[in-house]
Amino acid sequence: MKRRTFIQQGLLAVGALHTMNLRTFANEFTNWEDSDQVMPVLFVGHGAPMYALGDNKYTLAWRKLGEELPKPRAIVSISAHWLTPGRTQVTAAPKPRTIHDFGGMDSRLYEMQYPAPGSPELANEIALTIEHPQIATETDWGFDHGTWCVLYHMYPKADIPVIQLSIDYKQHAAWHMELGKELQFLRKKGVLVVCSGNIVHNLRVLKFQESAVYDWAAEFDAQAKELIDKGNYGSLINYQSLGRAAELSIPTPDHYFPLMYALGLKTAKDTITYPVEGMAYGSTSMRSVLITPS
Ligand code: ZN
Repeated sequence: MKRRTFIQQGLLAVGALHTMNLRTFANEFTNWEDSDQVMPVLFVGHGAPMYALGDNKYTLAWRKLGEELPKPRAIVSISAHWLTPGRTQVTAAPKPRTIHDFGGMDSRLYEMQYPAPGSPELANEIALTIEHPQIATETDWGFDHGTWCVLYHMYPKADIPVIQLSIDYKQHAAWHMELGKELQFLRKKGVLVVCSGNIVHNLRVLKFQESAVYDWAAEFDAQAKELIDKGNYGSLINYQSLGRAAELSIPTPDHYFPLMYALGLKTAKDTITYPVEGMAYGSTSMRSVLITPS
């Protein structure tokens, strides 16, 4: 039994004593009834924070995606920049803050705001629906740069409610893919899940020429695409067994784990395309993976 059903039945058992609370509770769910349209899922390679300051081929592609995808009722962002070892949390602030979680960047970046509203109702819906793991709501975290630097281009009006789901950094890749599966119900509620990371992400060896790409970075980016196309998610989960190119491309899995959520959210009825490709700074894959109902 899903946790929400259990809690609803428990509330019903309490009876008339809490009629008012129950009514409020029921209204919240009414707001998030299933719609006819199943929403796509997007994994986005987010790259450098400074991409928020101007346009390049990646940001223009994000803007196009925002214009072409069905307009979501809300967005759930799973960003590489919100790691919560030992627990999973979801943001429930009505007005989330814009977090400038980087250092030594252009001063204009620190003045930027992404004033999209939050959605405490959707945060509660997720916390009540997912049984394992138990997901706690919290109101301190807002939009980190993995979220707002991309959404700033995709949805510049900032008029769509956005919440973030954290990544339990103590868990392994298969666990994250399983949680992605649990989140599939959101796609029927008009919610766009944006998983923001980078398939190849090695900041220790950045290059500052756009055309200079490490062989191993290009090799693993292509290998990951091939494995996604073949549906070989087992190999993607066991990335640590894929050899030297994977090892150098994923020195730590924080930017890789969001891809696990996106693949978990895919169903047999979906097709996969790659609306953005490329390598930035030699060792950051900008590949996006778009999962669309066919
Ligand atoms: Zn990042």
